[in-house]
Amino acid sequence: MAANDADKLVTSNDPEHPANLIPALCAKFWTLGWVTGTGGGCSIRDDDLVYIAPSGVQKELMKPSDMYVLSLAAQTDPTRTYLRAPPRLRPSQCTPLFLAAFARRGAGCCIHTHSQWAVLVTLLLEQQGGDSRVFEMNNIEQIKGFGRGFGKAGNLGYHDTLRIPVIENTPHEEDLTEYLEAAMEAHPDAYAVLVRRHGVYVWGDNVHKAKTQCESLDYLFQLAVEMKKLGIPWISDIPRIAPDRA
Ligand SMILES: [Zn+2]
Repeated sequence: MAANDADKLVTSNDPEHPANLIPALCAKFWTLGWVTGTGGGCSIRDDDLVYIAPSGVQKELMKPSDMYVLSLAAQTDPTRTYLRAPPRLRPSQCTPLFLAAFARRGAGCCIHTHSQWAVLVTLLLEQQGGDSRVFEMNNIEQIKGFGRGFGKAGNLGYHDTLRIPVIENTPHEEDLTEYLEAAMEAHPDAYAVLVRRHGVYVWGDNVHKAKTQCESLDYLFQLAVEMKKLGIPWISDIPRIAPDRA
């Protein structure tokens, strides 16, 4: 593809165009401490086209012209080809992890944060020993922000248990891919995977769902850390005073 044609992939006046939306979202995520110091990132899929923020850039200062674009269908391991690549930047090491969410879950957006609350939850699980590979929480209103699972209609209920698998960190982020994919297989209904001492990957059917699930999760992780400090368990058995509605 000629350079001019390739640049058209990231040129649009529409604020909802992925090349415009990713920098706008990352600037917001930066203010939340999710993508500090160039860590973390965001990717959006529009049908077969995948837009990805580059590696090593200040996430609050990104421009549409910094975006990588690739065809999901055209990717064959281990070769990765881009329809459009910005000059003088490097592809994100998160790329194969984002692609896993798109290819295996049909996600429309995937967000990766280095949120301190996510990191702290993985440290608390590590410290408590036993099976530290799943974060579980129930009987908290914000759990209703999550879908029931891949291919399932509706959201979790107040009394349902939210489960987020935890994988161990690797020295190179792209090497997390096989563990992330294994966690997706083992937890088919999860919309997120925690990475120990690192952060979290969250995806959704579209940008709206990925963003709201990421926000809900960060809220729950912060709550979980505070609950642990106060000696309050994450899983509770409380009386149900009203029925679920369909
Ligand atoms: Zn990371």
